[in-house]
Amino acid sequence: MAERVALVTGGTRGIGAAISKGLKEAGYKVAANYGGNDEAAQAFKAETGIPVFKFDVGDAAACEQGIRAAEAELGPIDVLVNNAGITRDGMFHKMTFEQWQAVIRTNLDSMFTCTKPVIDGMRARGFGRIILISSINGQKGQMGQTNYSAAKAGVVGFAKALAQENANKGVTVNVIAPGYIATEMVKAVPEEVLKSKILPHIPVGRLGEAEEIARAVEFLAGEQAGFITGSTLTINGGQYFH
Ligand code: NDP
Repeated sequence: MAERVALVTGGTRGIGAAISKGLKEAGYKVAANYGGNDEAAQAFKAETGIPVFKFDVGDAAACEQGIRAAEAELGPIDVLVNNAGITRDGMFHKMTFEQWQAVIRTNLDSMFTCTKPVIDGMRARGFGRIILISSINGQKGQMGQTNYSAAKAGVVGFAKALAQENANKGVTVNVIAPGYIATEMVKAVPEEVLKSKILPHIPVGRLGEAEEIARAVEFLAGEQAGFITGSTLTINGGQYFH
């Protein structure tokens, strides 16, 4: 088997960085995308040797260009991990349309913009793995996150439809729905809220580790996961069963 090529969006920090590193260790040629934090991206590149590609996942033209640049360096993308995401929390009655749109753009429009440039190639080559990072809060809804919950639930619908369209072409499409994982996104939650409102609801009794999401991505990316498509893998320490 030729060395498979993987692209991880938001692959330079947090969960995405763990996914990029995990796939590299598993033998993939990996490209890591990021949005704006050059310092973090350069530090990640220096640490891992993984090439980084800066483009906004909400911008279709930028994605097309950025993904072609990654392919020119590494070869056609076999595994796409749509991981980049943001939050702009607020109660809906106070939420601005800008907050709404920013989250829909980065977390849901990105499903279109990042998948579109790779889907034809995957179909033509008869192999592809598309792995989408949703969230527990897309499954159960979360107060203060109407925008994020809507986007992350949308990811699941996208996966189910795309999975059916591509099942007979060797291309699988699956979702991972993490619970609370110890990354900067979650560390931004005040310690008090974490202790009183989040940890008591996680039966395993701790936050998840980014590496625990990365292991699941490696599994779904593998040759032997070809009969798994359209599914959502919940990884949340027993907090919620969809
Ligand atoms: P981080 O904030 O730690 O990292 C986000 C990554 O996404 C960064 O690499 C960032 O790039 C990139 N990114 C953000 N916006 C854009 C953009 N417009 N274009 C390109 N790249 C972008 O997030 P996490 O690792 O915590 O989250 C990763 C994914 O997992 C997200 O989709 C999130 O919603 C989901 N998730 C996270 C959970 C958690 O507990 N942490 C729980 C459930 C789901 P840059 O460094 O340039 O900003």
